[in-house]
Amino acid sequence: MKKALFWFVLLCSFSLHAQPNADKCGFIIAKKAIIARNPSFQQQLDSYLQKRLSNLANAKTTGQVTLSVTVPVIFHIVLDTAQLHRINDSAGIADRVISQIQILNEDYNRGNADSTLIPSVFKPLYGNVNIKFALAHTTPNGKPTNGWDIVTTPLTGFDASANDPCGFAKHTDSGGIDAWDVSKYINIWVINFLQYGNQPSQILGLTVPPSFTVDTVNGFPVNEMGVLLSYTAFGHRSSPNEYFYTHIDLGRTLTHEMGHYFGLFHPWGDDGGVCPWNYGGKDDGIADTPPEGGPNYGCPTFPVYDICSVPGQSNGIMFNNYMDYTDDACMNMFTHDQILVMQSEIGPGGESHELTIHPDVLQYPGNVIPVSDNSFIITPNPSKGFIYINFNQVPTGFQHVIIKNTVGQTVIDQNMIGQQTSYFPINMSGLGRGMYFVTCYFTNATETRKIILL
Ligand SMILES: [Zn+2]
Repeated sequence: MKKALFWFVLLCSFSLHAQPNADKCGFIIAKKAIIARNPSFQQQLDSYLQKRLSNLANAKTTGQVTLSVTVPVIFHIVLDTAQLHRINDSAGIADRVISQIQILNEDYNRGNADSTLIPSVFKPLYGNVNIKFALAHTTPNGKPTNGWDIVTTPLTGFDASANDPCGFAKHTDSGGIDAWDVSKYINIWVINFLQYGNQPSQILGLTVPPSFTVDTVNGFPVNEMGVLLSYTAFGHRSSPNEYFYTHIDLGRTLTHEMGHYFGLFHPWGDDGGVCPWNYGGKDDGIADTPPEGGPNYGCPTFPVYDICSVPGQSNGIMFNNYMDYTDDACMNMFTHDQILVMQSEIGPGGESHELTIHPDVLQYPGNVIPVSDNSFIITPNPSKGFIYINFNQVPTGFQHVIIKNTVGQTVIDQNMIGQQTSYFPINMSGLGRGMYFVTCYFTNATETRKIILL
């Protein structure tokens, strides 16, 4: 009995259960916030949709589908002390950032292993967005960065029901962090969502895309463009004990929100269940996503028909689309036409195009490290225990890391052969304070950096 109670308490402490059928995404909240100030915004959005569709048609004729770009991403972690601790502080955050970028790159480059789960009738529509995401390594002030910053906020969370949903998170003077230049970086604020003052919210993500800042009077301020992401849905679970919403632990919340950032709507059109062929009914404007009445949850079994499915004429709804609300393990594709919309946003003339023309912010500042395939930086320095060796890309011929103290004794010797990431955490917390020398051995070269342990 005691053992059962122990496990019950343990499970409660590590997992959160989202309410079934809650609004997982705050896209409609952000839209309604603008409409409350400017009732004609819906018409503006409709004409924006028309513009996207015409961009899409152009893209189809000009063959823009081959576009491949890399966009810089900066994660701003804005949590209180308890929340930071819940996700294992700086070491846990580093793991989540790295795994989150990996998931984005898989999902946006047709690299998700679970594409095998796509129902065969939808498989021909499974496409490659061809957008790559990379951590920013130079700040707007020209300083080196890992690609994420952490602010311990005195606030327990940010109110998604406010006029400016969670806007406090996006400004340093209100307990958050100011955006970095939104024309060069995609800003992602990792926060705790609250609703109606201080109630916990079921919202996992809320995006302000460029189109929501175009109305400079009633829209969102340009420096609030970006994605708000719940810390309970941030990154990819790597162990059963990690703190995540149940079934929302594979990093797909950001895949979904990034779709909004690049111009996608929910397949059901956020119109309260009216089908597109009825008066007032909307959908996402995308021809190859089947009409849908509303969001889907959990992990449905194909086929699924809803109020907007045409009996006898369709394969039902595409519940496994990243823009639906199904569990992370049960969403696995964007369609070709969704991809064309995103590419028209990121391509020449698109509202996000400028993100692709500042590759310099993806590199560390030139005065810190030389530019070469195996250039790296060690952060933080000074360190309290964990250090991170960050490469610009997956290093070639990486053999091992040897750390020596000031009298030349080897204190850590770590094998790196076969590693396939660009980021390597090393735990030095068992060592005494002082100066150490970190040497990375490659097949044909060695590089040494000096670090301080506090
Ligand atoms: Zn959404």
